[in-house]
Amino acid sequence: MTRLNQPLGGNEMPRFGGPATMMRLPSAASAAGLDACFVGVPMDIGTSNRPGTRLGPRQIRDESRMIRPYNMATRAAPFDALQVADIGDVPINTFDLKKSVAIIEAFYAELLGHGAIPLTLGGDHTLTWPILKAMRDRHGPVALVHVDAHSDTNEAMFGETVAHGCPFRRAWEDGCLLNDRVFQIGLRGSGYAAGDFDWGRERGWTVIQAEECWWKSLTPLMADIRARIGDAPAYLSFDIDSLDPAFAPGTGTVEPGGLTTWQALEIVRGSAGLNLVGADLVEVSPPYDVSGNTALIGANLLFEMLCVLPGVPRKTD
Ligand code: MN
Ligand code: MN
Repeated sequence: MTRLNQPLGGNEMPRFGGPATMMRLPSAASAAGLDACFVGVPMDIGTSNRPGTRLGPRQIRDESRMIRPYNMATRAAPFDALQVADIGDVPINTFDLKKSVAIIEAFYAELLGHGAIPLTLGGDHTLTWPILKAMRDRHGPVALVHVDAHSDTNEAMFGETVAHGCPFRRAWEDGCLLNDRVFQIGLRGSGYAAGDFDWGRERGWTVIQAEECWWKSLTPLMADIRARIGDAPAYLSFDIDSLDPAFAPGTGTVEPGGLTTWQALEIVRGSAGLNLVGADLVEVSPPYDVSGNTALIGANLLFEMLCVLPGVPRKTD
């Protein structure tokens, strides 16, 4: 049996040296032979306000260098059970968003053909639409936990139907979603019409606006979501702008009054037990992340996502 890949430890190589991969894991040329993989989508041509998410995957990888292999809260031990590697970035066409989404869909179709679970480092949120199409073709329609300040269900932006404010409307049109098992958490701010967030509700989705999350643990909400999703294949899409800008200012479309880092951890840790088939962490924009902390939180949330994948040993109380 092949030894499972391990992150390069801080006692073997200083944390500021070594490979610039996610968690300083070995890199791999493809997802062949992997149970799970980290993959970057260096794209910001779908953004509508501040740019910079094209640099997100590299910065997330850099800020992931401190993450050690065991989860002290949940006792999750992903590298004891899963073969994991960083398979690099999707070669998007930075001059053409529509070609890029086709490139992303084909890339994930190939990746899913190997049976690997992708954990995606974004990149702007446009990327989730082609991933969900690849998921649909592999697993059928999926349940969705979508954490975001925004609903991302616009019909169009500036007349364009492919943009980072539209991916979940496109995914709905394409039959990618189990509409009675879609949950949007953290939505807030201003809109173009007072009923904007009702678009999903009118399609059977459950929308939990940020104000409903204030001052609360989200652990009970996640128990309810797990009960309602059951064994269905489930996808977790986490936009870092769901967090309050006090915690995560390094993103393009900031809205005040957001989630805390501990609520974000409760959401991801509360996804343990779902039949997760993939997850992403999107919208980290390093030019607006002067401390690096937004990318660092994103990196840690991606590790937490790895810790809740099916088959990972963890504390089960
Ligand atoms: Mn988004
Ligand atoms: Mn957003």
